[in-house]
Amino acid sequence: MFYRPTWVEVNLGNIAYNINSIRRLISPYTEILATVKADAYGHGIIPVSKKLVSLGINYLGVATLDEAIVLRNAGIKCRILILGGIFPKDADAVIRYNLTQSVFTKDVAYALNLAAEKNKKKVPIHIKVDTGMGRLGVWHSDVFSFVSQIKRFKSLDIEGIFTHLSSADVDENFSKRQISDFKVLLARLEKSGIFIPLRHVANSLGILKFKDSHFNLVRPGIIIYGLYPKDNLNIKLKSAMSLKTKIVYLKKLPKGRSVSYGHTYIADKSTIIATLPIGYGDGYPRLLSNRAPVLVKGRRAKVAGRVCMDQVMVDVGHIKNIKVGDTVILIGKKGGCAVTAEELAGLSGTICYEIVCGIGSRVPRVYI
Ligand SMILES: *Cc1c(COP(=O)(O)O)cnc(C)c1O
Repeated sequence: MFYRPTWVEVNLGNIAYNINSIRRLISPYTEILATVKADAYGHGIIPVSKKLVSLGINYLGVATLDEAIVLRNAGIKCRILILGGIFPKDADAVIRYNLTQSVFTKDVAYALNLAAEKNKKKVPIHIKVDTGMGRLGVWHSDVFSFVSQIKRFKSLDIEGIFTHLSSADVDENFSKRQISDFKVLLARLEKSGIFIPLRHVANSLGILKFKDSHFNLVRPGIIIYGLYPKDNLNIKLKSAMSLKTKIVYLKKLPKGRSVSYGHTYIADKSTIIATLPIGYGDGYPRLLSNRAPVLVKGRRAKVAGRVCMDQVMVDVGHIKNIKVGDTVILIGKKGGCAVTAEELAGLSGTICYEIVCGIGSRVPRVYI
């Protein structure tokens, strides 16, 4: 129950549609690890994960141990890979919650092994390889010796090995080099009798652009939510998130009067201004001031003046019969008209990932 008429609508049917689109691009022998970090890219980690499990997804990917625990506490029983790092002191929790940890330091491997022995369990791990991202992971040419050391920890089960593409959107050759370095590493491991069952590289763009990055597991994120990481991609997606609000106030603005902080918007003719109860305090970027389109009664209108913390004003002078209480779509579509997260990202100098992840917890999520 909420009073302020500002909400995110998540269409879980569209997530199912997108999973189908992804499945059409990969071999039947390749599984999907669905990335649900950052509250499922702002869509709500628990309802989205439950939907994904119902669609036959067996593996979820999160960034942190805390996110994985949220999933377990919600009753989600499928495999969960923690893509980020932990500290050795966290090893007990990884085992208690039956999680799979990415490993790239001997300290964490040692701690996990010790905790596993104590609990008389084997703990599954995935080795994280750096092929050029320069973030987490052991540099690929050092992985052979790293794995040889990890092999001696008898309570660890090296179930997977993976790397991450850093530049799939801008540098094809760099990505190809990353994939081939990873293949060379796998061949070297296999030659010495080390066969690691799950091998994975591809994020959304990897899936779409590099078939030989698929191996037997892929890790889509943004395309699950129906957003395009880049223009002109060959996949049909349906965006799952809409952001909506209602007009709480209408005023006539005579020619020459201004709107919002810094009077950056001055009416060049008499018009009508609608005030919307949403702002940068909800993650609607202030960089959209005087720029972003919104949909009112199926027509486009534009943000007038600076976006405030809790309010945004829109010039609706060209739209007939407008009333307080009319719904306004900030992200989403109505009839033939749409405002996309990709478009807002373009207007505010960021990527669509940041737009959807940024919609804050003050905005309730509604599932349809
Ligand atoms: C976030 C993430 C993904 C998913 O990336 P998308 O571009 O959203 O598909 C895959 N792998 C790792 C390691 C990630 O951190």
